[in-house]
Amino acid sequence: MENMNSFEVLIVGAGPAGSFAAEKLARGGARVALFDGRPEGEPKACGGGVTAKALKAWPHLLNAVGRTVNELEMYSPAGKRLHLQLDEPFAIYSRVAFDSYLRDRAQEAGAAVIFEKITARGIKRTESGWTLRGASGAEWQGKLLVGADGANSGIAKKLAGPLAPADMEVAFGYRAPLPEASEAPTVIAFLPQWVGYAWAFPRLDHISFGIATTQDAFEHKALDELLWQFMLGYYRQRAGSNANIWQSNSDRGVDDIERHLRATAERYAARIPGLADQTWDTRLACGEGWALLGDAAGFADPVTGEGIYYALRSAELFAESFLSGDPEKYEQRWRTDFGGELRRAAQMRRRFYGNFWGAPFTERMIEFARGHRGIRKVLGDLVAGEQGYVGLKKKLARRVLRPL
Ligand SMILES: Cc1cc2nc3c(=O)[nH]c(=O)nc-3n(C[C@H](O)[C@H](O)[C@H](O)COP(=O)(O)OP(=O)(O)OC[C@H]3O[C@@H](n4cnc5c(N)ncnc54)[C@H](O)[C@@H]3O)c2cc1C
Repeated sequence: MENMNSFEVLIVGAGPAGSFAAEKLARGGARVALFDGRPEGEPKACGGGVTAKALKAWPHLLNAVGRTVNELEMYSPAGKRLHLQLDEPFAIYSRVAFDSYLRDRAQEAGAAVIFEKITARGIKRTESGWTLRGASGAEWQGKLLVGADGANSGIAKKLAGPLAPADMEVAFGYRAPLPEASEAPTVIAFLPQWVGYAWAFPRLDHISFGIATTQDAFEHKALDELLWQFMLGYYRQRAGSNANIWQSNSDRGVDDIERHLRATAERYAARIPGLADQTWDTRLACGEGWALLGDAAGFADPVTGEGIYYALRSAELFAESFLSGDPEKYEQRWRTDFGGELRRAAQMRRRFYGNFWGAPFTERMIEFARGHRGIRKVLGDLVAGEQGYVGLKKKLARRVLRPL
């Protein structure tokens, strides 16, 4: 009889990457175990934004409980506002809902879901593959080990080596209540003086606020103050203020809005990979008997921190490579599919948040978009995940010089 604890593939981590790979592999007939070490009900720190490009590639994602967004407020570093009507909506999910939806699909497809955290010490390479040991002392065997254990992946450290601070971004923020008496717009605001942006992503029962920026330039106190300005600006605007979103100080010191927000906002912080351009050339996502997916492999957009699309796409490419009988083909497949674009995004990061025609590029982009339909279209495509970074500046310059 077949050993119940023996599998072809052992996947550690049941985020979008691990669960989607487990589903695809199980549907293809592989014996797969998916280890979920996340405490029940504890959300992964994330804005939960899923681009139109991802929704088009995997329309079933729309069955997960979330909300679709077809308009967006954008702010420049100086606080100029742009209203963007999106041709293609994107979705915002609670990560508890999104992750459990994908994990349940993996289970329905036949993957064994095991609720155990597998520490680095619990992983042993054997002659025939791998043995994993859980905190309970139980053991599982498998031929192939997949690290889908997120940005702090212990498996990636062991198999592909640690990442430098220059290969990481930081995101932090607050979960805060929805405004009582008004609509809650979705907002993206490019930071004054810093690389990165702030967001307000309303969910069904709260708003996720946050800032994503590079780890090597991270200054906690100054950025936290900036995020508070942004959050207070957001609620004060809802209460009728016309003040700049970055400088909406109350005339009377701490007001009711601030008191309420300070009492209710729950803080979170986490890392996002943002590989430097040279790292893309040298870092491997698979080898004999192992593979890395999603954040564990470093697959997030170095300009925006968007990682859910790449988590899902890498899972799909790995599963297809495995089912074709040549799992190591995955390395070449992810490089061809999205590796080149992410590497170019890494090269673009400084320039995107740098200057363009004597002002921050992001300031110019919002400024021009306010006056040109063509530029609003380019920006909409960028948000939808359909506009690459290559040629972005050229395209914007062309649109400005030859407005539609
Ligand atoms: C604050 C913040 C905001 C973000 N906003 C967005 C956004 O709006 N849109 C977007 O596309 N991306 C966003 N990202 C990035 C996105 O969250 C990640 O790219 C994405 O979650 C990667 O998916 P994953 O499956 O690779 O890893 P994860 O989602 O991190 O999943 C890994 C899973 O493995 C589990 N795990 C870890 N170690 C073990 C272990 N030893 N044993 C068992 N299980 C383990 C973890 O608990 C986790 O559930 C954001 C990131 C941050 C930090």
